[in-house]
Amino acid sequence: MDHLTMTSTSENALDHHDDHDASSPALPPMIPGCDPHDGAACLELIEVLTARAGDVQRRVLGEVLAMNAGTDYLRRFLGDGGEADAAAFKERVPVVEYEDVKTYIERIANGAPSSLISSKPITELLTSSGTSGGQPKLMPATEEELDRKTFLYNLLVPVMNKYVEGLDEGRGMYLLFVKPEITTASGLVARPVLTSYYKSRHFRRRPDSPYTRYTSPNEAILCPDSRQSMYAQLLCGLARRGEVLRAGAVFASAFLRAVKFLEGHWRALCDDIRAGRADPAVVTDAACRDAVDAVVSRPDPDLADAIAAECSVGSWRGIVRRLWPRTKYIDVIVTGSMAQYIPLLEFYGGGLPLVSTMYASSECYFGINLRPLDRPEDVVYTLLPNMCYYEFIKVEKDGEEIRDGEVVDLIDVEVGGYYELVVTTFTGLYRYRVGDILQVAGFHNAAPQFRFVHRRNVVLSVDTDKTSEDDLLRAVTAAKPLLDPLGCVLAEYTAYADTSSIPGHYVLFWELTPPPPSPASARVMAACCAAVEAGLDAVYRRCRSRDRSVGPLEIRAVAPGAFDALMDLCVSHGSSVNQYKTPRCIKHPDAIAVLEHRVVGRFFSDAVPHWEPLKVDAAAADT
Ligand code: AMP
Repeated sequence: MDHLTMTSTSENALDHHDDHDASSPALPPMIPGCDPHDGAACLELIEVLTARAGDVQRRVLGEVLAMNAGTDYLRRFLGDGGEADAAAFKERVPVVEYEDVKTYIERIANGAPSSLISSKPITELLTSSGTSGGQPKLMPATEEELDRKTFLYNLLVPVMNKYVEGLDEGRGMYLLFVKPEITTASGLVARPVLTSYYKSRHFRRRPDSPYTRYTSPNEAILCPDSRQSMYAQLLCGLARRGEVLRAGAVFASAFLRAVKFLEGHWRALCDDIRAGRADPAVVTDAACRDAVDAVVSRPDPDLADAIAAECSVGSWRGIVRRLWPRTKYIDVIVTGSMAQYIPLLEFYGGGLPLVSTMYASSECYFGINLRPLDRPEDVVYTLLPNMCYYEFIKVEKDGEEIRDGEVVDLIDVEVGGYYELVVTTFTGLYRYRVGDILQVAGFHNAAPQFRFVHRRNVVLSVDTDKTSEDDLLRAVTAAKPLLDPLGCVLAEYTAYADTSSIPGHYVLFWELTPPPPSPASARVMAACCAAVEAGLDAVYRRCRSRDRSVGPLEIRAVAPGAFDALMDLCVSHGSSVNQYKTPRCIKHPDAIAVLEHRVVGRFFSDAVPHWEPLKVDAAAADT
């Protein structure tokens, strides 16, 4: 998704210490200025950055080390001797995970100086959807990093313009949302990366241009009440129906949630269009309502009738195309765990291309898709070499670490190889394992292009929740004692994310032995569902309770022998009998079908799990 804005060019120009030979183009500044209206210049910039990927990466590492040599973190490994070189960095600074740097970040959250990890002030903390100890991981962010993000966003439209004409002749209908934030003990704000970006001046005060015109006013995007925000944004999207050239959200799950919301609210939305104002009983946020009323500024019964006519057709196949007939594509991420939503998007989109434009995280924004109209399964991301310093741990196909697996540089990865991404950022992360497994699909100039394979350890995901086998085991273990009154035990379990309806939900197959007396067990089983949910991490619980982007967890009790049948199936597909272990998550339709045929009872969580915004551990306070 793109949020275009012009930004000042960083002063940290690389040119002054450029060692290129006369035949290659000069290196651009570290954060190049990029005017999306000058498409040719933006595309040329991509060519230069990728052609000189190795040089750019060397400069990035040099800059990070020069800037941060005095931080406590780097001094711990590199000593006080001033600037270190790349060789010393790789030899002495360890590859780390969040747990290794958590105390540094939490100390900053509690008032310790940024110089623990960064010479530039840490201005906020970004709450990742990856969790540690059940709570979102916190990633450091600096003011300058917003320029770097803006630079990446600015490249998206010129790339798209290469493939789709006329995007300047209307608006983008992007359904974008902010999430709650907290203020840490030291006064730093902690919030998700997109909330941070949408609240920044880079987004709010983006210069007006045909490419930055969205159907949603900023006030609707920034409305803290997610229901009102959704209602307001859909109302504006419908009111500006004739102008919409592209529709989207960040992730596929969010876009489908909007379609579902529309299914439930189109009559009220049409009433508002007919009346020429947002219903004040629904949109109570004054700033949001004023902004929406300025869009829906006059009664338009004809438009309301036309929308109602489309929405009242029995099947919603192709509804996006029917409601917004000028739309050229749906701009949502459909790679990684979001691929499960492709069939539904194709259904509602009526064949509109699905476009995954970028690959980014709370740690850093990484790359863009240079061939946005490629089919979802063919999407590859080109990592932009100026965003951070990249390294790659060679892994097995399934993401399993290879003992003493090599760590290689960006330009040294091999086509076909599987790697885990490691980054050194401008914001204070050094040789940090992001947890994503990528496969090299090819090269664009000297820069590799990656297919997103999966996230390490994640077995279940519906929205931004990321549940590992361990998380699931812990939650199931916590729920098991509730079975005691039934006199039975949990013999086997496995799970899958059911995304056939919106919102999706987790399904657990449980084989209980001895089988419980069914009428008496319904209450206990519902309580088990709720207990499993209560035991899952904070991001899952936020999706369930605040965002409502995940539906109630379901346990399907299966008949005795069901898991033997699953084993038989796995063995028939090539698993070794001796080494067989029940998979804790299943995806293959045949595996799901084997258990599904043996379901004897279905139970849903009867309680929304408790969630409250992150608490930064006060015990880690430094001041
Ligand atoms: P977060 O840390 O919550 O910002 O989530 C970032 C993570 O989302 C990444 O590390 C990936 O696992 C996932 N992600 C982001 N962009 C994409 C993409 N284009 N395709 C697949 N997964 C993605």
